This record gives sequence, C-alpha cells and structure tokens, in this order.
Amino acid sequence: MNYREVLNMGIARLESAGIEGAKVDAKLLLQKAADLSSTELVIKAYDEVEKEKEEAYFAFLKKREKRIPLQYITGEAPFMNYVFKTNEKVLIPRFDTEILVDNALKNAPDQKISVLDMCCGTGCIGISFFLERKRKGISDSVTLVDISDDAIAVSKENSKLLGADVNIVKSDLYSEIKNESFDMLLSNPPYIKSSEIETLLPEVKDYEPHLALDGKENGLYFYKRIIEGLKERLNDNGKVIFEIGCDQYEAVKGLLVDNSFRNIRVVKDLSGLDRVVIAEK
Ligand code: GLN
Repeated sequence: MNYREVLNMGIARLESAGIEGAKVDAKLLLQKAADLSSTELVIKAYDEVEKEKEEAYFAFLKKREKRIPLQYITGEAPFMNYVFKTNEKVLIPRFDTEILVDNALKNAPDQKISVLDMCCGTGCIGISFFLERKRKGISDSVTLVDISDDAIAVSKENSKLLGADVNIVKSDLYSEIKNESFDMLLSNPPYIKSSEIETLLPEVKDYEPHLALDGKENGLYFYKRIIEGLKERLNDNGKVIFEIGCDQYEAVKGLLVDNSFRNIRVVKDLSGLDRVVIAEK
C-alpha cells in the first residue's frame, strides 16, 4: 500500500472507533511512525510504505482505537513554541494552558523575577515561561514543583532537552519550599471535582493520572491550600495566575478576597469560558 492508502485506512479505523478528530490523529500517527513532516507525507503520497513503518503505524492505530491519547502514543505534545515529552504519568499539556503562560508573560516586568510553577507535571508552564523570557534577554529564577516522582523526572528531561535552566524540586505543595519568596506563582492545579472524573472522555478518565486531575470534593482543594500558603511566600505586589475550571471563577475569587488579594480578574479562553484568574498581593 502507498502512503495515501495507508492513511485512508487509518482514518477509517479511527472513525469507526468513534474518535473525534480521526483525520488529524491518523495523519499525525503516520507522520510519527514514518518519521515524516506534513509536507514530506504529501510528497510521498504515492510511494510504497516500507513494511516496518506500516507495522509501526498499525501498532499506533491499535492503541488509539483503545482511546489512548495521541500524545501518550507519540510521547510528545506541542505547547507554546516547544515540544514537551509526555507519558501516562503526567497530564498532557493543553492548549488552554497557553493562555496562562501568555498572561504570565504579559504581567511580568522587564527585569528579572522569581517564579514558582506549582504542580508542574511535564513542566510546560515553568519551562516555556523561562524560555520565552530568555528570548527577550531576561534570565528569571524559575522553580517547578510537583508531588509526583514521575512528574519531576519528566520535567527534568524536558528542561534538559529544551535547554531551560530552571530548578525542579519534588515537593508536596510548599513542603520543600522553605524561606523562599516569589514574585509570581503560576499554577494549573488538579481542579476536577472527584465526582465528575467519571464523566470525562475515556482518553482523560482512563489514561491521564487522576492525581493530576482530581481537585477533591469541590474541585477547590488545591486553590485553597496554594492561596493560603502564598501569604508568606509571595512578595508584595507579587502576582498569582491560575488556570481554573470554567465554573470556578467566583469560588476562586472568594478564596483570593478572603486572603486579601486585590485586582482580581478573569481571562476567557477561545470558547468564551472563564479559564485564567489573575490577582495581586
Ligand atoms: N502544569 C502542568 C500542566 O499544566 C500539570 C498540571 C497538573 O498536573 N494538574 O500541564
């Protein structure tokens, strides 16, 4: 079979498995299996697919049919201007989270600051913030923390591969962050209500780590603990920027108000839903 035929077969298989975006996924998996760019795939459309590449592709399709997320099959996910390594032990970086990083960049002063990325997962937030600032000639002190050993390992790998000189520390929230203060805290903590996890897509509920999703009973557990701990760790006029669930703005705002934060505002995502909260100390 040639590339075009193999691709069409992949699309048909993923469509009949009920996968949304079957076309895109089938194409990206073929590119990965055959190590081809999008353009190269077009050029080779009528070339015969080598046996081992075809086999690799079919193995990928089999996984995707089981609803394993594309990014766990390819082992990578694009985020901001970078590609992050991912595996099933860490949350897949989401496009929505780029809004958080964009707002962090917009709200950061022109001089060097210290930043904490709380619950770092792949490290996508802290690492891309560091790299984007470095491109502007600013060398911030960025610390990433996570409770999971796997997340720490993936973040370390990503920081090495992407050349980001950041500190990565295993810590249960602030447990290992002692006597340090920050100008900015960035966090996309677990924020799904425990009872809602079972309603999520199979890709999410069956394959992404619940540790990275579950915000306990009301989904607000981590916001509360992070905000309370910020009192003594955020410098005056420091900023906190959270990603939130689309129905959590009022509740998170309430927690910020209770802890004397000011200038609290929300940024919407491309679907018009509340997505990022910004506040100042
Ligand atoms: N900070 C990582 C991300 O945004 C992981 C977040 C998490 O594990 N809840 O992708």
